[in-house]
Amino acid sequence: MLVRDLMLVDTPKWNDDLIRNIFTHEEARLILSIPLRNYWCEDRWTWHFTANGQYSVKSGYKVGWTLETHLTNRPSTSGDSSPIWKWVWQLPIPPKVQVFIWKMLHNALPVRAALSKRKAVPNPYCLRCGEEIETVEHALRDCPWSSFFWRASPLRLDPALIISSASMADLTHELTKNKNEDRDALFAMLLWTIWYARNMRTFQDKEISHNECFALALKCLHEYQAVRDDDKGAREKVRVHQWQRPKEGTVKINTDASIIKGEGSSIGVAIRTHNGEVLKVLSKRYDQEFAVDIMEAIACREGLKIATELHLECVEVETDCLIIAHAYHQRQTNLTYLGRVIDDIRELSAHFTCCTLRYIPRIANRMAHHLAKFAFSLSGCNLYYGAFPSELNHLIPVDERLC
Ligand SMILES: [Zn+2]
Repeated sequence: MLVRDLMLVDTPKWNDDLIRNIFTHEEARLILSIPLRNYWCEDRWTWHFTANGQYSVKSGYKVGWTLETHLTNRPSTSGDSSPIWKWVWQLPIPPKVQVFIWKMLHNALPVRAALSKRKAVPNPYCLRCGEEIETVEHALRDCPWSSFFWRASPLRLDPALIISSASMADLTHELTKNKNEDRDALFAMLLWTIWYARNMRTFQDKEISHNECFALALKCLHEYQAVRDDDKGAREKVRVHQWQRPKEGTVKINTDASIIKGEGSSIGVAIRTHNGEVLKVLSKRYDQEFAVDIMEAIACREGLKIATELHLECVEVETDCLIIAHAYHQRQTNLTYLGRVIDDIRELSAHFTCCTLRYIPRIANRMAHHLAKFAFSLSGCNLYYGAFPSELNHLIPVDERLC
């Protein structure tokens, strides 16, 4: 909706009835108190926090920090002191995303179902699929675009959990009950990017792809957390945007998995030196469709097996599956199927002088990702092991595949 939609058609005056219908009494009073020009002009963005209405980076930072300090110091701004409210405010995400999550949990997002009740839009249907009423759940979870978003997202959510959750509040509660700060923050940022993409499409007719959303979520998270970390000297957070060479003498093992419904599952492993030289890659397909996190763990395990065969001494394993990194570092025994593979990984890791395993965003794990996908294109066999396959050259930037 543009400002001009709130004006009368034939004369530049506020549409009093419409404004009072859409907005609360106080909001309507404030809008109607804004003086209008005497002639039509294009809508444009104005920045509230500088005298000239022009945005400046300095004023942006100032507002950001003031807002955060304000929110951090007064966690019960709205009078809500529920656990979910506290959870939202302590997540390491930008304040605008906290506000968004809070609105989502309170069913207060301006989705078309709500807007149509207030007669602000002609119908309640989702503009993306055109088939369902756009509720909060539809916009963020059920619309085919959003449902695919979650299937492809770096969080690797369990599709059954997504479908079975009654509402976004339920889903959020279920996913965040273990209080894993990095994972929860990423989940919140991803939710926000769905809403951002929805708004860009609705208001600016701009299509933002899933991958762009993932990259945006990680970038925002990284930038915000870098500022916080600098300020607080906090522990290391997700901050990698591209593949990084390991330090001299260490070999990096990137791993990933892929599942195609009806076709099976696969893993990809890329082993590279500190020069970026590819020592070996593995691309392997399985007929069974295991759970994603199990496949991700199997990929790590296979990577370490190859590393032992190559008699490597210092290795760094990277996975874009947070669950694996988390499970590997947890002290308690994991009694699930996943736990067994994690135990194998721990056992294998003891073969090396030094061995670390960490999470990196998918964007920094491209080679392993494409190798996992590559397994489905192998004809006549289910395994590729050797040098980097030239078929993938066009997918990986040159500095990532020196070989
Ligand atoms: Zn839809």
